[in-house]
Amino acid sequence: RAKNAGRNTVRFYDPELHRAVEARFELESELRHALDQDAFSVHYQPQVDTSGAVIGAEILLRWKHASRGMISPAEFIPVAEQTGLIVPIGRKVLRAACEQLAAWKHQPAFRDLTLSVNVSARQFRHKYFVRDLAQTLEATGAPGHRLKLELTESMLLENVETVIAHIEELRSFGIEFSLDDFGTGYSSLAYLKRLPLAQLKIDQSFVRDVLDDPNDAAIAQMVVNLAHTLDLDVIAEGVENDQQRAFLFGLGCRHFQGYLYGHPDTLAELEALVLRQNDNGNPAAHP
Ligand code: C2E
Ligand code: MG
Ligand code: MG
Ligand code: MG
Repeated sequence: RAKNAGRNTVRFYDPELHRAVEARFELESELRHALDQDAFSVHYQPQVDTSGAVIGAEILLRWKHASRGMISPAEFIPVAEQTGLIVPIGRKVLRAACEQLAAWKHQPAFRDLTLSVNVSARQFRHKYFVRDLAQTLEATGAPGHRLKLELTESMLLENVETVIAHIEELRSFGIEFSLDDFGTGYSSLAYLKRLPLAQLKIDQSFVRDVLDDPNDAAIAQMVVNLAHTLDLDVIAEGVENDQQRAFLFGLGCRHFQGYLYGHPDTLAELEALVLRQNDNGNPAAHP
């Protein structure tokens, strides 16, 4: 038997898998280190209405690695989720959002802006998530109704009751909810009806070829119609050119986000964009 086990061990040794496992452990320890060193920052990507005016921004996490430079959240968020590190990391992002909303409260040019924050399933289900966020709102003085949390359909795969309970509690602070990457997951329409959402977000994978691929156009139309039926706002992400914007507008979409309006960038860039817009025609800027 021992001989068998030994042979199995050898048979299952796969250098490629071994490297992947090592890389994952390395990433995990680097994430811990990054958390200690405050190596995370946030970028802001504008969200606009039909006139192109900025109505808010999505906060996107950035990790500046000492030797590898900027690492995409698509690479490290899954590891942060698996290890639970998403909880303290996500707490920092929410803190940053609340501090910014509180700072904008007294600045007329910015006080109507909303901030959308991505929240992972593991983070959202955490038993202290609601308590922590309530404390952060309180401590910062952030207006809860300017904060939007982006959830994903994967959150609905288990513990739907917990998710709904947390949404309800946070809504009492004015916080709104958006369903991100909508259509890429496994949403059941029955759950969707039960979730007290404010917004559906059309995933960029449908926006990319919306002009050429009739299936993508049909899905985008379905999301817009569904949103209207359920009385929800709808926003398209990944809008890169005006033809896409015009097409989505034709489908009934009124809010947009994507490189056409701005890449995720620093707070200073977002604020400068808003101020430039106010100078170009918003009379409120010239009382
Ligand atoms: P997401 O929430 O769907 O964010 C949209 C992603 O599309 C962002 O990638 C954004 O930079 C990118 N994007 C925006 N406009 C365009 C466009 O016009 N064209 C193209 N091709 N891409 C565009 P990013 O910043 O790399 O973030 C990737 C994902 O990581 C996010 O997808 C989100 O799921 C996750 N993420 C980011 N920040 C956080 C965070 O603070 N917490 C959690 N839990 N997840 C986060
Ligand atoms: Mg998002
Ligand atoms: Mg998205
Ligand atoms: Mg997406």
